[in-house]
Amino acid sequence: MSTINPFLSAMKQLDNAHAALTKGKKKNTAIDQKVAQLREPQRMVNVSIPVVMDDGSQKIFQGYRVQFNNSRGAYKGGIRYHHNVSLDEVKALSFWMAMKCAVADLPLGGGKGGIIVDPKSLSVGELERLSRGYGKAIADIIGPDIDVPAPDVNTNGIIMGWMVDEFLKVQRKKAKLLGVTLTKRDEMKLKSTFTGKAIRDGGSEGREEATGLGGLFVLKTILKKLRLKGRLTAAVQGFGNVGYNIVKFLDEAGITVVAVSDSKGGIYVPEGINPALTLECKKKNGPPDGGLAGCYCSGSVCDLKKGKQVTNDALLELPVDILVPAALENAITEKNASKVRAKVVLEMANGPTTPEADVILYKKGIPVIPDILSNSGGVTVSAFEWEQNLKGQHWTKAQVNTKLAKKMTDAAGAVWIASVSHKTDLRTAAFIVALERILKAMK
Ligand code: GLU
Repeated sequence: MSTINPFLSAMKQLDNAHAALTKGKKKNTAIDQKVAQLREPQRMVNVSIPVVMDDGSQKIFQGYRVQFNNSRGAYKGGIRYHHNVSLDEVKALSFWMAMKCAVADLPLGGGKGGIIVDPKSLSVGELERLSRGYGKAIADIIGPDIDVPAPDVNTNGIIMGWMVDEFLKVQRKKAKLLGVTLTKRDEMKLKSTFTGKAIRDGGSEGREEATGLGGLFVLKTILKKLRLKGRLTAAVQGFGNVGYNIVKFLDEAGITVVAVSDSKGGIYVPEGINPALTLECKKKNGPPDGGLAGCYCSGSVCDLKKGKQVTNDALLELPVDILVPAALENAITEKNASKVRAKVVLEMANGPTTPEADVILYKKGIPVIPDILSNSGGVTVSAFEWEQNLKGQHWTKAQVNTKLAKKMTDAAGAVWIASVSHKTDLRTAAFIVALERILKAMK
């Protein structure tokens, strides 16, 4: 487990942006006080969820919901299931959500949730009972204009469906107490409390692949500014929803993805991997022992494609044009940053580069396209889903993707302009864009 505290990293990023924003200007107490308010979440909720396990025993799980800031709108952010979830991690992730929603110019604030659990060790029934328990436990502090959760690492539309169901049960009970019955329309509005839902539950077209597609739009905009073109190669760390989709979209855009990995290890295929085959192979191997490593070099795909195994650490040091950390926090640290050989880093995970590593990469002249910009496509389509539910609409995939492209291109353009005018790196620039918008909205 990493010992680097992501919340301390997040606060360092905030300090850097605050310093860059106020550089050369005379002391402004109002701004300093508002920034000070952004150093702690507005509300943190700790829940314990008793779950009846399949063998009849009871296990109690710990979970969190952190509501960081709602100056620009309802708290917004996913729910993570991972054995390394901690309060400080959820605090950092919720802070990043506030910044991310502001960079994408969404009328939303930042929040995040998490449960300390290895979901792969649970049966489907246990997973459902845990998810329903969490949904019920946070039902009183969420709502369409209060806090709008979504999927994150190891959660998905099915899990959102269980949580919505529990949330609606609580709302129906409350309505009954007041002597009213909820109409179908009321329920659809209430369903906007969760995004990333399955389409049949009111989810949006395009949400599942939105983070990956958004990342491609951002990358294209920044590559143009950097004047980086020609036949480009990429290595992607992580092969969950975000990792797989960015691999797929890079491949479709003509960028050769030569390496991918998951938590167990990775594969390096110099002539480029086939995203669909790789996913199929990983799925076939399945938990508990499956994954990419076992897939490529013991199976036929490896032999066919002449792939070889690569560790997660080695993947980060491959001589590619674009390095894409798309797994968890603290992938690029002061220990390995000097070994990065890519021409640009596209952060698709949240918090994959520490502030110390940022300094090293900056000195090496490697631009880092920051998470709060490059992975904001997911929450952007979440905001579209929320809007569709509230208005009782269902947009086509083409409508969603056109709107997403515009949002991402505008956000990347604003960050680029801020980096030029403040003569700073892209992360600080993204934070400046976000901070200016949040500070303006703060009372
Ligand atoms: N978990 C995603 C993120 O970190 C999406 C959040 C959302 O859709 O609210 O951006």
